Amino acid sequence: MFDQLTEAISSIAKQLGPKQKITEASVKPALRGVRRALLDADVNVNVADTLIDGVKSRSLGKEVMEGVTAEQQFIKAMYDELLDMMGGDSATAKSTQQTYKPAATLAFTKDKPTVVLLAGLQGAGKTTAAGKLALYLKEREVDYDAVNPEDDQETQLASKLPKRQRKVLLVAADVYRPAAIKQLEILGESIQVDVFSKGTDANPVDIAREALQKAANEGYDTVLVDTAGRQIIDKDLMTELKRIKETVKPDETLLVVDAMTGQEAASLTAAFDSAVGITGAILTKMDGDSRGGAAVSVRGVSGKPIKFVGTGEKTADLEPFYPDRMASRILGMGDVVSLVEKAAAEVSDKEAAEMQKKMLEARFDFDDFVKQSKLVSKMGNLAGVAKMMPGMAGQLNMNKMREVEARLKKNEAMINSMTKTERAEPELLINHPTARSRITRITKGSGNDFEDGLQFMSEFQRMRTMMSRMQKQMGGPEAMEAAM
Ligand code: GDP
Ligand code: MG
Repeated sequence: MFDQLTEAISSIAKQLGPKQKITEASVKPALRGVRRALLDADVNVNVADTLIDGVKSRSLGKEVMEGVTAEQQFIKAMYDELLDMMGGDSATAKSTQQTYKPAATLAFTKDKPTVVLLAGLQGAGKTTAAGKLALYLKEREVDYDAVNPEDDQETQLASKLPKRQRKVLLVAADVYRPAAIKQLEILGESIQVDVFSKGTDANPVDIAREALQKAANEGYDTVLVDTAGRQIIDKDLMTELKRIKETVKPDETLLVVDAMTGQEAASLTAAFDSAVGITGAILTKMDGDSRGGAAVSVRGVSGKPIKFVGTGEKTADLEPFYPDRMASRILGMGDVVSLVEKAAAEVSDKEAAEMQKKMLEARFDFDDFVKQSKLVSKMGNLAGVAKMMPGMAGQLNMNKMREVEARLKKNEAMINSMTKTERAEPELLINHPTARSRITRITKGSGNDFEDGLQFMSEFQRMRTMMSRMQKQMGGPEAMEAAM
């Protein structure tokens, strides 16, 4: 389904050629092309622009790593952005070869039946999704895909728990069409899951309440409530949904949206969330010829994760939503991504070792600072560097890192305006009678404010202090090196 987008991005990336550096000039037309391809795929415009900005800041001016082409590195930047946008985490995703991780799993309760409320417009696939989810929860004993072998045992166990065979009760709360009740009953029979239903005269809120009672009395651990839909969102639908929600207090309220509606699916998710509050979405009809806009846009627009995708009409056609698998599919080149990841790991290993040694010896000056910034560029983002710094790993989020990267660029410009002596002797700019006039000259020369200069100097000083403190605490460079 992503064929067009995949093709567009790969042909655009090719235009970057085997250059050594991705420059503003080379990347600009490429990014414009990718933006167009995203919009053609019906990705929401704000989401597309955020993606483009992200790819730009990840790839601009970066040296192309040894062993990969500019094209490949560009694809990797694109992959990371898509991953983050869809609810994955490019900073912690170690390798695409690793087992895939879903964006989000269901919140299961321990001491009472877990209640899942399914909402959505008519024809979105709610009833079908109810049957699929029932089968998924009933049949899959353990979804090994969801288990990350690097997690501690408790976390591993927790990610297995939801997939234990569950005793499911389906609830037919769509009373407006007799056929809807029948449809769920037939579905339930085919997968041997009990269905709770009353006539078309019953009130959906009462049905839901009674179903919950039955579940509690008869030992069901999961209740899936199928609700009515309308052609469009209207007040009655929302009011009924709110009342059902207040009655059953669902652990999950999932909006079922049709992937064929593209970015509409995303704005619908946002609308339902602000009206009734939802915990996530099920994206259906991913097997159809939709252009991918929904998968890319839902989380960016609504802030809610896609939890499952429907990939066909049969009850077995349901999968958890894996942002990493989806990003690879969109780009159609998971192998390129892992190649770049490998190259990045090699670069960082070698250079990180050198840099660490310098830091430990507390000989760190402005020239080293530039090298460190270059290292950051080469690796694509700061995440890798943060990982190498003791105690920093896992403390920075992606936005923070972008901020830091922007500041690093500023700082680098200031360093370029320093004299050779100043670079090698930071004291001249920190504790020296001429410091003020030097900083004035440097900030003017680099197009920055005096305050930027002061801020940089205090940061730099703090960094040095921190390094020497770390050293003392750990008993000198050798002890520290041994400990790492
Ligand atoms: P509801 O009105 O929201 O309950 O929608 P239904 O569950 O009745 O589904 C409407 C139509 O969409 C039916 O013909 C389903 O077979 C079809 N459908 C639902 N999910 C999928 C899916 O993932 N793939 C495909 N191809 N068809 C689907
Ligand atoms: Mg239905």
